[in-house]
Formats: sequence, C-alpha cells, structure tokens
Amino acid sequence: MPAHMLDRREFLKGVAGAAALGAAGVELLAAARRLPWEALARRLSGSVVLPGARGYGALALPNNLRYSALRPAGIAMCKSAQDVSAAILWARENGVPLVARSGGHSYAGYSTTSGLMIDMGEMNGITLDKSTGVATIAGGARNGDAYKYFGNRSVAITHGRCPSVGIAGLALGGGIGFNMREHGLTCDHLVASEIVLADGTIRTLSGDDDLLWACRGAGGGNFGINTSFAFQTFDVGSITVCDLVWDEQPERIFASLVETLDRAPRTFGSKVSAKAPTGSSAIQVELLGQFTGTPAGLRELLGGAYAIAPPKGVVTMERYWKAQEVLAEPGVPAYFQERSRFFNQAIDHRAVAVILDWLRKCPKTATSAEFKVFQTGGRVNDKKPSETAFVHRQSRWLGSIDLYWERNTPSDMLRHYLAWLSGFYEAIVPFAKGGAYQNFIDPSLTDWKRAYHGSNLERLEAIKRRVDPDGVFGFREAIP
Ligand SMILES: Cc1cc2nc3c(=O)[nH]c(=O)nc-3n(C[C@H](O)[C@H](O)[C@H](O)COP(=O)(O)OP(=O)(O)OC[C@H]3O[C@@H](n4cnc5c(N)ncnc54)[C@H](O)[C@@H]3O)c2cc1C
Repeated sequence: MPAHMLDRREFLKGVAGAAALGAAGVELLAAARRLPWEALARRLSGSVVLPGARGYGALALPNNLRYSALRPAGIAMCKSAQDVSAAILWARENGVPLVARSGGHSYAGYSTTSGLMIDMGEMNGITLDKSTGVATIAGGARNGDAYKYFGNRSVAITHGRCPSVGIAGLALGGGIGFNMREHGLTCDHLVASEIVLADGTIRTLSGDDDLLWACRGAGGGNFGINTSFAFQTFDVGSITVCDLVWDEQPERIFASLVETLDRAPRTFGSKVSAKAPTGSSAIQVELLGQFTGTPAGLRELLGGAYAIAPPKGVVTMERYWKAQEVLAEPGVPAYFQERSRFFNQAIDHRAVAVILDWLRKCPKTATSAEFKVFQTGGRVNDKKPSETAFVHRQSRWLGSIDLYWERNTPSDMLRHYLAWLSGFYEAIVPFAKGGAYQNFIDPSLTDWKRAYHGSNLERLEAIKRRVDPDGVFGFREAIP
C-alpha cells in the first residue's frame, strides 16, 4: 500500500501548522521528511500518516492535552501483527524511538513520542468462542468496542467506564472496574496474548509463560506490543446501578459511605467521590455503584447515608450492558493530572477530615478537582501479590485526586495548582499505606518503581532484561 506521503501542498499546510509550535515544530517536520517513510509504507498493509496529512492532528492527539505539543514524526497505522513487527524493525533500523498507542489515555502522555507512533486503532476486532466463553480482543480495541460487541450478549469482562480507553492499556496495567470485587481485575481474566517483541518476533503467550505473567498488570509499553488478548468472560444478567449525589453534610456522608461499603458484599462495586467546591456550590459527594441485587437491597445497604440526608439521582435495575450507560464517563481530552494511592486500611474520620480540608483549599480558578475512591478488595484480593504482575492485592480502596485546568493557564498559576495537588497527595499518603496504581501513571511520583510494582519489581526487571535487552520499549516510568 502506498504511503500517505505529503504532497507539496499538504507539506506546506503541515509546515504552517508546525510553525505555530515554533522552531521545534518546523525542525520536526524537516526530520520527518528525511526519514525513509516510503520504505516503511511498502512493508505495511496499513498506512503511514505524516505531519500535515489529513487525520494526522487527530491521531497524534493524546487524551491528556498537557502532552499534546509532543508530536510523532510519523504514525504507522497497523492492521496486523506483521505490520507491528515491520514498524518496530523499521524504527530500529533508522534509530527512531517508538511507542505504541491504543486508546491514548496514558495519564502522563506516555503514548506520545517525537519518533514513530505505532497506532493500533485499526486492530479493534472482537470474537467470542461460545463454547469456552473466551473472547479474543485485538490489541487496539477500546472499551467502547467491547460495549458494542458484548452489548447484545450476556457476558462481560471487567472493563473501564470510559469508552475511549484502550483495552490494551487497561488490561496490561491491571484494569479496575465495577466488576472487580465480584470477578477480579481485567488482567485476571487474561488467559493468552499475542505480542510483538523488540526483535520483531511475534509470540503467543499462554499458560505459565513469564511474559504472560508480566502482561497481567505491569503496565503497557514495557515489554513489546500486544496485538491481541484472550480473556475468559463471565456471565452477566440484570443488575442495579446508582448515581447518587449529596450536596450537604459532606463529611458525614463521605464517612458513612466508606464505612458502610467497607462491609458491603463483593457483589457491590463502587466509587465514592467528593468534588472541590466551585463558585457558589459546596462540596458534593457522589456515589456511583453497581450491585448484583435489587434496588431495594441497594437502598437497604445505603440506609446510613440516606438517614443523614436524602440524595438526588438514580437507582435503576437494567440488563447489564444497558445499565453501563449510567456508569459511563465520556473522558473527553483535557488538561489534567491525577495522583493515586491504594488504601490498605479503612478510611477513617481523620482521613475524611483531611481530604475535605484539602478540597476546600483547592485553587478556585482551576477548572475542577475531586478526590475519589474506587472500592477494591473482594476477588481482587483473592490472589497473592506474586500471582500476577499486578501486586496490589491487599487494598480496600484505590484513592485518587484529579485536577483539571484550562489550556491557557499561566505557568505560575499552574505551578500553584500542582503544588496544591502535591500537598494534598502527601497529606493522604500516611493514611493510605499502599502503593500507587500503575495505570493512573503519575509523572510526579518519586518512588514509582516500588509504588507501582512492590515486591514484583525484581522479577519484572529480570523479564525486561531478557525480552528487551536494548531498551526499545521505554518511557520515563518504564521498568528498567
Ligand atoms: C478518562 C479515563 C478513564 C479511565 N478509566 C479507567 C478505568 O475505569 N479503569 C482503569 O483501570 N483505568 C482507567 N483509566 C486509566 C487507563 O487504564 C490507563 O491510562 C491506560 O493505560 C490507558 O490505556 P490506553 O490504551 O487508552 O492508553 P495509551 O496511552 O494508548 O497506552 C498506555 C500505555 O500502554 C502502551 N500501549 C498502548 N497500546 C499497547 C499495546 N497494544 N501493547 C503494549 N503496550 C501498549 C502505551 O505505549 C502507553 O505506555 C482511565 C483513564 C482515563 C484518561
């Protein structure tokens, strides 16, 4: 297939666009032009998209716009594992750094590069073997593809709430979702995977292969490019879901919810969040939940919070995939940072007071900020930390602070925002006592190797040395 090469007009349009980025942008285009893109295009069944070509801008854009200035010299739109292999080898032959991109939702923009972006988006097929219940999901499929495919079927895997998050990134870094307490993490359903390694070889991982173990939660972008995943699905029927909001007595409501949910059956999956006050509105507490049970059962469980104040919102019982509409989040591209910590102990009144105190101190000019906890435990903790690369098997909650800001925020103001975020983070770490979630990858974390990988770090480092001795796959927080 011919390269989607720049013709002169397109190239000039590209230069005009890049000029807006300043000298760096023009230099990038010049460097891009010097590389043997035609040779890459000849080796792919998919296309090559270069700066200035139609579609390049949208493809290059990461979900976290904070990292949008870093643009790839070229994008290989792969259609097969053979394409991925050819793209890796071309990049290595030409000394071009590479990254894989599936959903593009890395919090720290780690699927952006100034080199070759290997885009998996066209590899998004899903099939289901009805006799075994094993679903094969191509390496570039997103949550939204899974919603569509499974929507008319009564099976699921643990998936995320945002339709544009890639299944690859989700599963490779663990994969939390409302099913995890009842059924385990996304990576816990992974029974096999096809991966393209740094030397271009295509391998199928299954059984007790060390690399399959590593693919269960070490994080994307570390060992190779996974071109397909086989997941053991589970059956789903009707469930009760809720989206409830309290706008008074946030301390009491938050404390009541986390205390009650700590005792909830594993058939209840939830997220409790408190939003920083904005303008005239006070702190709001929200509960998103999924319960394999009835609305009356859910209402009874939340009796304590209802007694403090009646919430606004919905509680409804629906077919599983229809019910997901209540829980989904759009995840539109924005400027943000998020910082996480696993809570290996209960969130007590002292912790709640600290959390709400920091929310009240949130810079008023920021777009939004919230503290949220996803309830973990249940089936997640049935595995030992060493059973999969995902090491966090003793937690009760995954806590996370997010902060959003506008595009043109002056740098001194942004520094002030980020200082608040770090102050808040340091204040909750002593209450949490767990590590950090590698899928909420955090560029400000200093102890990231242990925080993400704990006692699995040494085994992961050994696997990395074996399968990628030249460090072809790397980013700032990659396994060394
Ligand atoms: C709005 C939003 C909602 C989210 N919701 C959830 C949630 O509900 N549950 C949860 O657990 N997490 C959630 N996350 C976090 C998410 O799981 C991680 O950010 C994940 O890494 C994103 O995967 P991706 O494929 O979309 O991102 P990408 O940026 O494409 O990839 C992430 C990393 O994996 C690498 N990579 C990409 N594709 C491949 C591949 N095929 N093979 C090997 N490496 C690859 C990339 O190079 C990069 O290092 C959410 C993130 C956002 C922004």
